[in-house]
Amino acid sequence: LAEVEDLSRVIYLLDWDQQVLMPRGGGTVRAEQLATVQKLAHELFIDDEIGRLLDELRPYEESLPFESDDASLIRVTRRDWEKQRPVPTDLSAEMAKAGSEGMAAWAAAREAGDFGAFRPWLDRTLELKHRYIACFEPAEESYDILLDDYEPGLTTTEVRAVFDRLREVIVPLVDAVATDEAARFMAGPFPSQAQRALSLEALKAFGFDEESFRLDLSVHPFCTSLGIDDVRLTTRFEEGLESLFSSMHECGHGLYEHGVAPALERTPLGTGASMSLHESQSRLWENVIGRSLPFWRWFWPMTQAAFPEALGGVTLEEFHRAINRVRRSYIRVASDEVTYGLHIILRFELEQELLSGRLATGDLPEAWNARFEELIGTPVPDDRVGCLQDIHWSGGALGYFPSYQLGNVVSLQIWEKVREALPDVDEQIERGSFGDVHEWLRENLYRHGRKFTTAETLERLVGTGIDPEPYLRYLQAKFGSTVAA
Ligand code: ZN
Repeated sequence: LAEVEDLSRVIYLLDWDQQVLMPRGGGTVRAEQLATVQKLAHELFIDDEIGRLLDELRPYEESLPFESDDASLIRVTRRDWEKQRPVPTDLSAEMAKAGSEGMAAWAAAREAGDFGAFRPWLDRTLELKHRYIACFEPAEESYDILLDDYEPGLTTTEVRAVFDRLREVIVPLVDAVATDEAARFMAGPFPSQAQRALSLEALKAFGFDEESFRLDLSVHPFCTSLGIDDVRLTTRFEEGLESLFSSMHECGHGLYEHGVAPALERTPLGTGASMSLHESQSRLWENVIGRSLPFWRWFWPMTQAAFPEALGGVTLEEFHRAINRVRRSYIRVASDEVTYGLHIILRFELEQELLSGRLATGDLPEAWNARFEELIGTPVPDDRVGCLQDIHWSGGALGYFPSYQLGNVVSLQIWEKVREALPDVDEQIERGSFGDVHEWLRENLYRHGRKFTTAETLERLVGTGIDPEPYLRYLQAKFGSTVAA
């Protein structure tokens, strides 16, 4: 299992390199390299011998407490083995190759705003997904099988129920608070070098240490971890201050990976439990902390000093309002906390329609634009800021988007627990002190790695399943009140 894990981290490294350092010309051979390593990892893992050992270990597993490292290792490995075993190695390698080639094609198509150039890759992704789904026993909905890759055990029906509730509250909230008024100072200038230095100040206070983390540039910001002490974050510098927030976001992912107990390294347990729990951590550090007033009471003097030209005459209150402005924007990653959920609901619905064939890929831009206007209330000017904006479909990640919004929901379930445990958390944040928050999260969540599913984790932490109400209370309190004021 350690060797399988090593190979999977080699895949992460090849992917990180492709997105950060590789010259574009390397794309063709890189896709082959990724397919080869994926093939080796898959063959090694689905071997009959692993199945035999898992059977042999069953009595040992049953003799141990559920939460012990060994019982968890056997249980989670069995779940992974049963999920990967039915997938032919050739298909697994083909998906890795298509993902790598698709990402390169997407980057060029996005740059050119040319959906037609990307469409054949989307068709290929869908064709591969159908072959992948056909490897398993039929589920209630085909989409369940894709969702399960990111959220073990969660069903489309459950996600739909959460999203329906969110939609009910968020659509009227956006109508009530969205504004087109832009704060002039948010246009900068924010020189890249100063942005990088400032981002690192925040990240280091959160727990980014240079022995174990890096921050590089890529087209689409992401975080990957090659080991507990080798965590790679990326960002991109644009005209506004998005980079600061996206760096805090990726740092949240990185802290989770860095916080996994060393005993779990080089095992299938040595990473975050699910994509929604992962995203709960990135969003917690980016938004719940990083866009809060206590955080900015601490961070504002440094920010103002970093950008005297843009922010010299601006007050803390004006700035805090500007970074929490609710706006009908096109880009998911740059959208505010209120509209964000609607961006995800849009993708969740379109993915299901593409998968079922109810929506033809050629009709995607039109369907995207119509649905966007219906949900978010503004027309999309072009595909670059429409259906071409995200990397996910090009890399084969269908069924991934719901995790983002579930992460927002879960982040507030967890944050309510942090508040109970640390009643003076706001005062700590105002002092720029994040050690207690980080330690609470490490102790209660990060160190467990993949030992527990999302449902098991929430049961242990808050005693319920995924519950949208704490998140909706938070949105109402933070954004509803700005209207009243
Ligand atoms: Zn994220």
